[in-house]
Amino acid sequence: MTTTTHPPIQRLTPCQAEEPEIWFAETPAGVEYAKALCQSCPFQEMCLDGALERREPWGVWGGELFDSGRVIPRKRPRGRPRKHPIPA
Ligand code: SF4
Repeated sequence: MTTTTHPPIQRLTPCQAEEPEIWFAETPAGVEYAKALCQSCPFQEMCLDGALERREPWGVWGGELFDSGRVIPRKRPRGRPRKHPIPA
């Protein structure tokens, strides 16, 4: 008698399949890219709940951007705004 063995079916989440740095992007465009990848994750809601509970200090979790344990709408670009705008 022969038995056929199948490899285990393993489905990776987007953050397991891609480079982890994507979820800790420094640029607003990078953050939006990570948030978009999370939209296809079957664990998105659970991930977001866990991140809120742990008060994640930063990064994208469950399709949301975290800063100091809170969800924030978007990442601000680096640096302070100029006190005096440069004339065009
Ligand atoms: S929702 Fe969470 S587990 Fe899913 S890809 Fe995003 S960060 Fe990863």
